[in-house]
Amino acid sequence: MKICRTIAGLKQQLGELRQEGKTIGFVPTMGFLHEGHASLMRQAKEQNEAAVLSIFVNPTQFGPNEDFDRYPRDEERDLELAEQNGMDLVFLPSVEEMYPRKPLTSVLVSGVTTRLCGASRPGHFDGVGLIVSKLFHIVQPDRAYFGMKDAQQVAVITQLVEDLNFNVDVVPCPTVREPDGLALSSRNVYLSAQQRSQAVVLSQSLQLAKEWIPQPGMTAGELVERVKNHIRGASGAAIDYVELLRFPSLEELSADAAINELPYTVILALAVKFGNTRLIDNSLYEPIGGVDHV
Ligand code: AMP
Repeated sequence: MKICRTIAGLKQQLGELRQEGKTIGFVPTMGFLHEGHASLMRQAKEQNEAAVLSIFVNPTQFGPNEDFDRYPRDEERDLELAEQNGMDLVFLPSVEEMYPRKPLTSVLVSGVTTRLCGASRPGHFDGVGLIVSKLFHIVQPDRAYFGMKDAQQVAVITQLVEDLNFNVDVVPCPTVREPDGLALSSRNVYLSAQQRSQAVVLSQSLQLAKEWIPQPGMTAGELVERVKNHIRGASGAAIDYVELLRFPSLEELSADAAINELPYTVILALAVKFGNTRLIDNSLYEPIGGVDHV
């Protein structure tokens, strides 16, 4: 496994892989790797002849009062995990390497960014659009792997790739969970023991929704209310959003829409704060043949 800290160094290594005719799978991350990232790495390795991991805590996707400075980092452990999961190259650039000057170019994806984290974290997806565009140009992967844990990010990047004709297949990967259902996240380390035990309310709500949706006459508005009430029952949980939207367009549903009769996939997306820690989770519900938990 080769470690590259500069764009020039990475391009040289990538050039050698391409000369050997290898297809390239790419997994962009912010590090502090866990089993969710590992599942992306394994899939990239399985489906391509070479796999590239990037680790970069991207400042442009954090708001001024967010956790950029205290975002957890552990380079040594990350490199071990990358090696164990068969990565050929790891790209570990500094902020100066990626942004030697203040960028004057914006990558703004509209529509799919208006709700959910796009509304709660103004500018977040502009930062994501910019860094993913830069990384795609640098790496030029055949396939890029993204977790459905961040389903809105998948929708945004799919749109970006289509609109700007990036020559890459976006591969969405299922959310990896703790045994009690909590979605793995680098931010879970911020939780106190008590918050950690209450945090199970997110995945629990998605499971309950799966049971409620098939009930005759269940409307979007009623479902969202039930989920909110359930989350409010967890001590220390403060709801940022609970929304049921069409997926992947992330368009609103009318409150009286009967969920069972909808001919398209919907997403139930949650963001809940425990103290300063904001957790997200979601589940997709397919129209025919009942309900799918992704
Ligand atoms: P991050 O390092 O949090 O930016 O995440 C890097 C990639 O890993 C993104 O595509 C995430 O959606 C994905 N990811 C994060 N957590 C999980 C998880 N629990 N299961 C699957 N993928 C995940």
